[in-house]
Amino acid sequence: MLRTGTCSPYVGRFAPSPTGELHFGSLISAVASYLQAKSADGEWLIRIEDIDPPREVPGSARRILRDLRLFGMQSERPLVYQSERTAAYHQARDRLIESGKAFWCGCSRADLAGSGRYPGTCRNGIPKGKLPRSIRIRVDDRIVSFSDRLQGKLEENLQQTVGDFVIQRADGLPAYQLAVVVDDAYQGVTEVVRGMDLLESTARQIHLQRCLGLPTPVYAHHPIALGDDGRKLSKRYGSDPITALPHASALEMVLRFLGQSCPSGLSQGDLWLWAVENWKLSNIPPASRYNASTPQ
Ligand SMILES: [Zn+2]
Repeated sequence: MLRTGTCSPYVGRFAPSPTGELHFGSLISAVASYLQAKSADGEWLIRIEDIDPPREVPGSARRILRDLRLFGMQSERPLVYQSERTAAYHQARDRLIESGKAFWCGCSRADLAGSGRYPGTCRNGIPKGKLPRSIRIRVDDRIVSFSDRLQGKLEENLQQTVGDFVIQRADGLPAYQLAVVVDDAYQGVTEVVRGMDLLESTARQIHLQRCLGLPTPVYAHHPIALGDDGRKLSKRYGSDPITALPHASALEMVLRFLGQSCPSGLSQGDLWLWAVENWKLSNIPPASRYNASTPQ
């Protein structure tokens, strides 16, 4: 069911996975999506992407929400927890199977080892001797193109890059791509502002939206924080929460990272006022590097 009737046309979201603490990397996405929504006089929502229990850290959803609140950010609608949305994912999956757009796959990880993309083994039925394991969506030999507000025009031929991809995992859990697409539509999200590490998911999500007859939001992928060694900061410093810093200093660091030349030394409240007033998506550099050893 789609929610309609909101008074504001812009809906943005921040969708953390509860696999650790709020860190510099995730705070960048939270702040960027929040300011993009607020400067458009829109709504900002939080969705907890807790569909992967094996990866979850107990209590981290609660702590992420608490830390966001301390930074002054709260969802403007009731929170959506993906763990409570299984029925919607199943419904979408069933529609895709019934229309022939998705199919059961009997390949194990070992069967596919070494092949960068799915070779299409079970497209026309599971080979004899194999049992159904996962469900895959068919992709076409054609280009999916989209215009990212920060990264420009991008194109991908999914058949050449990933092949038919998984929408229900072998352990029965819905795949990330399906859950995101179903929920962005359910929440009426009009623009997705998130890190470049998710850029490679976008063509797959657009393909799923088209297969399900759902609208495609606008996308803006911001640079992610990398350490001196070029590794994603959240991986290295996942256990080193940004909340150890005074909130105003952390927020100032995030704004600078996002190319917003904010005045220094403001209180958190004044910094937000400045940021909403002066926010410019176009000031975000297409790629940038955060020097983890000497935070400024
Ligand atoms: Zn297969």
